[in-house]
Amino acid sequence: MMNITQAQFATVRDDFFSSREGPLADIALAGTVCGECGEVSLGSVPACPNCQSTALTPTTLSREGELYSYTIVRNRPPGDYKGGDKAGEGPFVPFPVGLVELPEGIRVLSVLDCPLDAPQVGMPMQLDIYELYRDETGQPVLSYRFRPVDEEAR
Ligand SMILES: [Zn+2]
Repeated sequence: MMNITQAQFATVRDDFFSSREGPLADIALAGTVCGECGEVSLGSVPACPNCQSTALTPTTLSREGELYSYTIVRNRPPGDYKGGDKAGEGPFVPFPVGLVELPEGIRVLSVLDCPLDAPQVGMPMQLDIYELYRDETGQPVLSYRFRPVDEEAR
């Protein structure tokens, strides 16, 4: 477990994280709940994507869910990609991504931290907040991913 404190990190998107204070194991994904239709969204949204209501309430999402679906990314994503091969340099390393369904009803698109042959639909998954890369000043930039709860599947 990394021992990173609030002043020492940035995130890929602040509105996706429940806190900017460590320890990382206490940080969850943040979302919004629509007061009109109950739709749950990841991060902050200007209006409900389901009914366009602006009666939105911030919420903290569960750290555990189930794998709903997955695929393997076998080609380097375009643009400013910084993951997969850890440093954004060298040969691309294929990785699994999936939709993790949380008890709140939302399906979160996420990198899966496990071997390529490990994902199974329905398997219990847990959130992992981790250092994706360091910016030009050396500051850690945190992102999120999910990994199997079952340690033998990691
Ligand atoms: Zn709504």
